[in-house]
Amino acid sequence: MIHPLTDRHNRTIDYLRISVTDRCNLRCGYCVPPTPFTHMKHKEILSYEELLRVVKVAVSLGIKKVRLTGGEPFARKGLIPFMEQLSCLDGLEDISVTTNGTLISDKIDVLKKAGLTRINISLDTLRPERFVQITKEDRFEDVIKTLHNAIDAGLAPVKLNTVLLDGINGDELEDFARLTLKHPIHVRFIEYMPIGEGTGPAKSELLAPAILKRLEKLGELTPVTRDAHDGPARRFKLKGALGEIGLISPMSNHFCATCNRIRLSADGHLRPCLLSDTKVSLKEPLRKGADEAAIEQLFRHAASIKGERHNLLDHHVHDMMCAIGG
Ligand code: SAM
Repeated sequence: MIHPLTDRHNRTIDYLRISVTDRCNLRCGYCVPPTPFTHMKHKEILSYEELLRVVKVAVSLGIKKVRLTGGEPFARKGLIPFMEQLSCLDGLEDISVTTNGTLISDKIDVLKKAGLTRINISLDTLRPERFVQITKEDRFEDVIKTLHNAIDAGLAPVKLNTVLLDGINGDELEDFARLTLKHPIHVRFIEYMPIGEGTGPAKSELLAPAILKRLEKLGELTPVTRDAHDGPARRFKLKGALGEIGLISPMSNHFCATCNRIRLSADGHLRPCLLSDTKVSLKEPLRKGADEAAIEQLFRHAASIKGERHNLLDHHVHDMMCAIGG
């Protein structure tokens, strides 16, 4: 019988997000620090064998969903065979990925066969020239191909993640929202979070209340009833739209009371909260021979120190987003 992973605030943790690498082929200003930094060495990140062991224990504790993220998860070789291994685990119901979509436009069918159930694609602009300014790479068309191929492959719902910043892409809010009229996608506006050294308060972030006001001017906007697969997004639908709009508001209206997540960073730390530097090393005990029971205890300890809510408004998170896994 499974004794589920719970925390001190009566939340059940059934969702594990794994950052498989801190490397990314894009360099978005709000995510990657502006000053040069040293990437983790290969031996510092958990091997796929280590990750698989950890996930097996997590699943035995009731983890039902795993999301692979990074860095750019597809920048790490061997991710697809790893997904295949994950898909063989009894009890793991959902394997998803958050990606910038630049490296997989021709791999969607292979990914589906490997067990991928859902995909979130990050895209902050619908303008090719602006894409280069934001990401420092000319890969817009690749992302669009990935988006269309994911829709065609039925990886429903394909989610598009967008961070809006005034003076950078804030003027595209309406264009992103209108995409949902014609395409069966979920466009999700995520509030900027000050995470990582060098990425201070943006001052130009667009928060959910302001976004909502602008969305309401686009036409009739109906709230969508939450379902079991809902994450923290508050969901809306424009009249006649094929898709939906989601607002994810960690800053203006946190959703910590319903948080069901735990994270594993690229360097092998369990992090009970994205927006806190509290972490528990898993790599060290793993490499010193920890058995399954010891790994289970580390998960239980990490869950037990999960804060009731994040305090990002008072504290800065020092570790980088790409290492923790957004
Ligand atoms: N490379 C992958 C991607 O682009 O989706 C996965 C990693 S990325 C860190 C995951 C998500 O975090 C992206 O949607 C990105 O926009 C978001 N993100 C990065 N830095 C952020 C920040 N400071 N505030 C809010 N979201 C952020």
